[in-house]
Amino acid sequence: MIETFLKQHGEYSNDKYFKDLTTIKMGGHIKHFVIPNTIDDLKEIIIFLKDYSICFKVIGNGSNLICGEDEFDGVIIKLDNFNAYEIKDEEVYVEAGVMAPYFSNILAKLGLSGLEFASGIPGSIGGLIYMNAGAYKSSISDILEEVTVLRRDEIITLKKDELKLNYRYSIFQEHPRWVILSCKLKMSKKNPQEILDLMNDRLIRRKESQPLDKPSAGSCFRNPENELAWKLIDDIGYRGYTIGGTKVSEKHSNFIINEGNGNAKEYLELAYNIMDKVKEKYNIKLILEVEKFNC
Ligand code: FAD
Repeated sequence: MIETFLKQHGEYSNDKYFKDLTTIKMGGHIKHFVIPNTIDDLKEIIIFLKDYSICFKVIGNGSNLICGEDEFDGVIIKLDNFNAYEIKDEEVYVEAGVMAPYFSNILAKLGLSGLEFASGIPGSIGGLIYMNAGAYKSSISDILEEVTVLRRDEIITLKKDELKLNYRYSIFQEHPRWVILSCKLKMSKKNPQEILDLMNDRLIRRKESQPLDKPSAGSCFRNPENELAWKLIDDIGYRGYTIGGTKVSEKHSNFIINEGNGNAKEYLELAYNIMDKVKEKYNIKLILEVEKFNC
């Protein structure tokens, strides 16, 4: 019944695996996967799933997720069809499914500054808002004005000051069933070439300092106050440390990479090991920046 219903409202599959939907390329079978056609379809799907108490999760590009090998007995929803945007002077409306690097390039070429920090963040706009993602002392919260959300069966708009935005934190982490649909960003005008040059420099720096040729979920840990997670991991001697198919990157010790056949159990064993050692040596509690799901 669920399959028939989802097929009426989107592109359906019962043959998807988290390893194909996450940048770290780990994770097992997903019982039901759907890309809703429209907002109305999404609304119908969410109401249906709630009525029947079926668990679900909306994902973006899977670039912050560590998913387990067991089958996920629910529905994964991806907003690939929510990819419209509209630009009016410095006001930008963009839907949650748009990829941040692609969009930062579009804005840069129009001379709109504010999203250049995201040119190397392989996430969707929805994922960036959920995480309040950022880099180079900027984050999406700097330009975010409001977010339109599907909350239960109503569509509401939340203003910036209602979003509890903080370091890698937003209100959405308290409400995993809310769906981010779109947002309004406030950009500022700048010379397009200047923006593109800055983005290019930063991409070069990322390539030099991060293992972008290996599957990862970006930084494993948040930086503790006044500390750098990578430095603490270096200081306990964990650069290059391996458990199963997972390894602390030689290039950047806050990245745990998948060497090919790694899984979430190994990833988390390695991460928890690091947390224990850092706590023991420095009495600092590292907090995961990646999100574990279904494990
Ligand atoms: P996903 O990983 O798919 O999901 C993350 C969370 O957001 C999940 O809980 C999901 O349910 C929720 N979510 C996604 N979309 C929606 C929606 N529409 N409605 C409700 N909830 C939603 N992060 C940084 O902050 N700075 C960096 O510099 C950075 N560099 C990275 C570099 C690499 C190589 C990689 C692999 C990752 C990096 N990241 C970085 C981490 C990651 O890209 C960000 O956290 C990003 O914001 C996640 O977006 P996503 O679309 O992939 O979200």
